[in-house]
Amino acid sequence: MDAAYRAALSGNIALLDQLAAADKTSVQWAIETTLDYALDDTVIVDEDSLKVKTSGIEHIGTEDARIPSKSISLDLKTGQMRNYMEQMAAYALGNMESHFVDNWTCILLFCDFQTQVTHEFTHDEAKEIVSRIISAYKDPNKQPTPCDYCGWCAMRNTCPAIVGPVEKSLTVVESVDTTLDQLREQVSSSPERLGQFLKMANVFKKELWDFAKDKAKELMGQGVDVAGWKISTTKGSEYFTAEVIAEAAETTGASINDIIGLFGGEIDGKTFRAWADKRGYAPSALDSKFKQGTTRMTETKIKTLK
Ligand code: SF4
Repeated sequence: MDAAYRAALSGNIALLDQLAAADKTSVQWAIETTLDYALDDTVIVDEDSLKVKTSGIEHIGTEDARIPSKSISLDLKTGQMRNYMEQMAAYALGNMESHFVDNWTCILLFCDFQTQVTHEFTHDEAKEIVSRIISAYKDPNKQPTPCDYCGWCAMRNTCPAIVGPVEKSLTVVESVDTTLDQLREQVSSSPERLGQFLKMANVFKKELWDFAKDKAKELMGQGVDVAGWKISTTKGSEYFTAEVIAEAAETTGASINDIIGLFGGEIDGKTFRAWADKRGYAPSALDSKFKQGTTRMTETKIKTLK
């Protein structure tokens, strides 16, 4: 999607056209948003020119687009909305130092949510954030701290901050090993142990995790700081009422099929039958269709837990 975004901004839509429909819509939104920022100015999308070196950091980052005339850079992010503030501070600092400016704006394009998050930095602010990260990294007593990035971390399998809490919650495991792979092997070593583990994990989730999560939300709602957590709200999705749709159909002369197509061309059986019933219409059983059923795992009672 990054490559399709950059290529389309340089005028080549071949990659964009190869994306699945939903991904294509997401990337198109990101392209339009970027062009709204650029107006008539140049958008740099060449990967080599997008590399950013930040003093004090060995790693060289790569942005997705840059508008140097406006001191703006943009980063396309797929999937969940996460905190990228430190990464953006590093990009902003590198850009400010190479473009000799005192302010830089980094825009995160969370394309799956069609939501943008803007970080505006002065040189001092970016420098302060980057210095804090570098000194934490160089601290001889540093301890791993689980964060948003653990899922991508090469150390995850043996990281004490991850394996430790998992070990502690695994009371069904007989001997405690030190890697996630070994723990996974143990919990799945027999169907009995697997079932037993799932029972215990379910209790943990229902009785502790769900409780703790609700409690934390309640406290944060009262303005209390819960270390390592925050409440974020995403923009609600836009919708139009039946009256507006009817008016649009009437004005444009759209057919019923056209309107139904807007909703994916189908209505669930229960809703349609209730609607038809009110109007004294009985749909034929031959006209109804069934989607593929789903398979789910449900909990059963067992007599003993060994
Ligand atoms: S897995 Fe461990 S080392 Fe990796 S990011 Fe998470 S806490 Fe840090």
